[in-house]
Amino acid sequence: MENCIFCKIANGEIPSATVYEDEAFRAIMDIAPANKGHVILLPKKHSANLFEAEDETLREALLVVKRVSNAMMKALHCDGLNVVQNNGEAAGQTVFHLHLHMIPRFKEDTVKVTWKQGSYAEGEAAALSEEIKKNL
Ligand code: 5GP
Ligand code: ZN
Repeated sequence: MENCIFCKIANGEIPSATVYEDEAFRAIMDIAPANKGHVILLPKKHSANLFEAEDETLREALLVVKRVSNAMMKALHCDGLNVVQNNGEAAGQTVFHLHLHMIPRFKEDTVKVTWKQGSYAEGEAAALSEEIKKNL
């Protein structure tokens, strides 16, 4: 993909602080971290988001996330770690090349990866569940 910054970074055209690389992926330090040590995993093959990615890429991605996250937990001595992946502008995606965030978390930190808990009217969750099931 021409003019995709993450294609250029993932494929080494633009240098980056790389923490992991293999044939299919590069994990780099996020330039504007939610917390110190925030890493993003970029597939080398372009897809705009999760839905457009190849199954094989998605299968492998979570294994790489596990490996890099484990290394982060050890190196950063964090208390927890959020894996976050945004699809679409409405969901907060700003770079339209699939990537997975690994955000180290510390007790009492001020990072916000959260939402206000909502609620359903009687039968609403079941109705939505049926709609989703119909579209599988
Ligand atoms: P999104 O909001 O799309 O889920 O996440 C995009 C992420 O990419 C943001 O956390 C942002 O800081 C990071 N980012 C954007 N441009 C660059 C860049 O050129 N280099 C690096 N290392 N991170 C970037
Ligand atoms: Zn790309």
